[in-house]
Amino acid sequence: MHDNKPFNQSRRRLAGSYAAVMGIILSLCGLTAYQMLAYAHWQAIAQELESVSGTLHDSLESKLMQPGQLSVAVEQALPGLCIIGKNCINQPSDRHILGIVRQGDYYIRFLDQSGRVVAVLGQPPKELPVYLQQEWQTLNTHTGTRYQQISLLLKATDRSPWGYMQIGRSLKEYDDHLALLKLLGLLGLPIAMLLVGAASWGLAGLAMQPVYQSYKQMQQFTADAAHELRTPVAAIRAIVEAARDVSPLTESEAQATLATVERQNTRLAHLVQDLLLLSRMEQNTSAGKQSPCCLNDLIGDLVESLSVLETAAHVKLLTQMQAPEPLYVMGDENQLCRLISNLVTNALQYTPAGGKVTVVLEREDQYAQISIQDTGIGIAPEDQSRIFERFYRVNSDRSRHTGGSGLGLAISSAIAHVHRGRLSVSSELNKGSLFTLTLPLKSPPSDSQA
Ligand code: ADP
Repeated sequence: MHDNKPFNQSRRRLAGSYAAVMGIILSLCGLTAYQMLAYAHWQAIAQELESVSGTLHDSLESKLMQPGQLSVAVEQALPGLCIIGKNCINQPSDRHILGIVRQGDYYIRFLDQSGRVVAVLGQPPKELPVYLQQEWQTLNTHTGTRYQQISLLLKATDRSPWGYMQIGRSLKEYDDHLALLKLLGLLGLPIAMLLVGAASWGLAGLAMQPVYQSYKQMQQFTADAAHELRTPVAAIRAIVEAARDVSPLTESEAQATLATVERQNTRLAHLVQDLLLLSRMEQNTSAGKQSPCCLNDLIGDLVESLSVLETAAHVKLLTQMQAPEPLYVMGDENQLCRLISNLVTNALQYTPAGGKVTVVLEREDQYAQISIQDTGIGIAPEDQSRIFERFYRVNSDRSRHTGGSGLGLAISSAIAHVHRGRLSVSSELNKGSLFTLTLPLKSPPSDSQA
């Protein structure tokens, strides 16, 4: 396939389309997975922030006395809280807010009702705005770190408005996580695409293989057919040219020339007929004219008509009808006759003088079995699977001597196939061959049963 341009082109196109489809599917899957992970992470952050803020809100509201002023109880509840105006060092701390989450990731701001910052816990970004309108906010700082913040209204113990509490957490860990996922996706996708490309190329090669094989077979068939047709055509031309050179031709010379031309022409006609039959059977998967055929009659007639060949070859041709009743199959009588005739003719041709050919007809369950056994030259094991190929001859020189084109068994197995039958061979070199044909039985028509 490597040196065949159209096949390589198709393989490239197939691999390209496959890789493109796989690329789109992979990208979509990657994108969906990324979105789902990002969403799950975001939800986890929001839930944590909500639960921390809710717990703090409930526990602090009972400790707030004067609006905008923090009681000592609040300061005790939030160690590290830095009251604005008092001298305090607001350092990052590893302590936990109410024993729930680590302070390091969080900040808390207390604002009075006018929005002035009263106290701070943790490390809020310096340029953090004071928006109070929205409960949830995502804030961007100039350092690039994002914060998610929740603002809650606080009430004093007498239910009068105290001010606001803002709790925020850095989204750095979340953003870093997403950035890592993006990086993995961006690095992983080209690697995955390379693997998909390689797999596509291999798979496209596998997919093209049977097409390429049948293309090669077709090429071989055309070449073989042309070769076979060329021989009689060349012979006819040579005969005609030779006859033209001899002038004038005597009556007997003219007759001999015509007889040779006719012989070559007959060979040509048979070859063309065989080729047509083969191609017709390849297109149709069923047998031609279907009618009930009695195999006993068919074999009887055939053996009778082949008796001339039998005498000429000095080979004994015997038949054994072993079924107690006549066996019928549905099919095209001409084709079935051709099939059995091919097998018996071959057996006679490839059996030396003094040998024996036996045709046995028997019933095997719902099948009729026809065995053609000869005591001929036999077929080597390596040739047994190939003799059913078109134009295959075990030994072309030897076969040419018999006049065969190598199409006989290909036609026979095609006929067996369209009749839903099976043709097989077992053979031993120099001992003989056994061709076995099985065909599905049809129950005999009622009038013939009588
Ligand atoms: P051909 O027209 O050459 O006989 P076939 O397709 O009928 O072509 O047979 C293919 C080859 O199988 C033959 O060339 C022959 O070598 C081998 N063959 C077929 N039948 C027999 C047999 N009964 N005994 C030995 N060889 C056989």
